[in-house]
Amino acid sequence: MSNLLHVSSLEQNNVTASHTTPLIELAKKHVLHTAIRPDIVMARGEGMMLYDTEGRGYLDFIGGWAVNSLGHSPAVLQEALAEQASKLVLASPAFFNEPQIQFAELLTSISGMDKVFFTSTGAEANESAVKLARKHGALNLNGAYEIITLTNSFHGRTLAMMSATGKAQWKPLFAPKVDGFVHVPINDLDACFAAVTNQTCAIMVELVQGEGGVHPVSEAYLYGLRKICDMYGILLIFDEIQTGLGRTGKMFAYQHYGIGPDIMTLGKGIGGGFPLSAMLTKEQYDLFQPGDQGGTYIGQPLAMAAGLAVVRELLRLDLADHAYKQGQYLIEGLQRLSASLPISNVRGLGLLLAFDVPDAPALVVKCREKGLLVNATNAHTIRLMPALIVQHSHIDAMLDILQEVLQAS
Ligand SMILES: *Cc1c(COP(=O)(O)O)cnc(C)c1O
Repeated sequence: MSNLLHVSSLEQNNVTASHTTPLIELAKKHVLHTAIRPDIVMARGEGMMLYDTEGRGYLDFIGGWAVNSLGHSPAVLQEALAEQASKLVLASPAFFNEPQIQFAELLTSISGMDKVFFTSTGAEANESAVKLARKHGALNLNGAYEIITLTNSFHGRTLAMMSATGKAQWKPLFAPKVDGFVHVPINDLDACFAAVTNQTCAIMVELVQGEGGVHPVSEAYLYGLRKICDMYGILLIFDEIQTGLGRTGKMFAYQHYGIGPDIMTLGKGIGGGFPLSAMLTKEQYDLFQPGDQGGTYIGQPLAMAAGLAVVRELLRLDLADHAYKQGQYLIEGLQRLSASLPISNVRGLGLLLAFDVPDAPALVVKCREKGLLVNATNAHTIRLMPALIVQHSHIDAMLDILQEVLQAS
């Protein structure tokens, strides 16, 4: 665990960033200001650690935003990318390629789905799901096109996904919104039932709302949604972009509930850091005609090789189960701290966890200064989504820093 030694030495590291300062000036001049970023330039990653251009190390509990499922620059990903890059980077989406076929077979075999469509980002996978649901509406439900989603949900940043997303702050942005999305509160079955009309073609949910602050749907609610969908012939879409691929302690979060979707979307952890996403569905909803959906990078060989290597490694190391156990250990540690420190509402599944504090953004900054990266989803919520390879030693180091920061504030 030599990596962790860097963490403890960080406190002395309040020196001016000599090499980094001109880089930051260039960044501020040329990079569009779409996010509030600290004056740090990340240079390298290894396992649970990130290193900046000053050589400072950070214990990473953001995990590339729940993306680096195998940690930073895992050997299997490096090797898969190098090997595929030497053979074929892109042949155009007009042709099949080998890793695409192998990966489609693997993903369908582990997910209980039959068919897959590959994209690069989560938003694109969700766009594909919405298109497929609307196609079902057009073919089988007299042109129904509305999709019910949840308040406080997050489904991506394209125009349609900003409309699907149930974030109040986004409502006034980029008018006119894409029509056809209806929002209902989470875990309120009556509200969902009341929102179904003859225009409804699908219900789309995250099983644990990630960006919304780590709130799971209840079992009774999901069971109810499945029943509503079956009753009216409308599709149930699970957005497992954040919860899929082992994150919650099962390969897919829906396996906690024993209730399956008609369409499922995957992203983030599926590529271990390489841009990759997928939409999966059942044989009976194989409804697209050639030309309905596509894209330049659909099934791009490098992405396919990356995904294949990442998912094989997740399975080989049984990282879903590992994530469950490490998540339990982390929850216990947080609960222990909450006895004497201002931490409340420790919650989550597997390694998608959150807790509430009086000032989350301030805590993020103080932790970072001590070499720990955590994410604030809002003013009071800290979310943890470390790589699934995280060990007790990393969690102990993380809890030590958190305790130190909270005791000092
Ligand atoms: C991150 C996320 C998305 C969007 O994925 P992008 O790759 O950023 O487009 C969609 N849905 C959920 C649940 C997510 O967590």
